[in-house]
Amino acid sequence: MLGSGIQVFVNKNNLDKAVELLQDKIEPNNSELICQNCGSKNIGLGLGKRKAFILFNIFVALLSAIPLGNLKPKYYCKDCKTEIK
Ligand SMILES: [Zn+2]
Repeated sequence: MLGSGIQVFVNKNNLDKAVELLQDKIEPNNSELICQNCGSKNIGLGLGKRKAFILFNIFVALLSAIPLGNLKPKYYCKDCKTEIK
């Protein structure tokens, strides 16, 4: 059973790298975004509530080489964690 544990660990690393690549690929054009809740301009790019869904898609894409074209991470305020619409 040791082998299966290592397998999961490796896949987790690949998944983290895939998320990093995805966030690099989608350039955060957030200079004009302002938090509607606290007025902060400290806006980041996040996967929001769809994170599990997106991670699943990344995982499938890694296995089958499907382009990650239709994933849309959301912007969020880094100060108060409010999602930017
Ligand atoms: Zn805020």
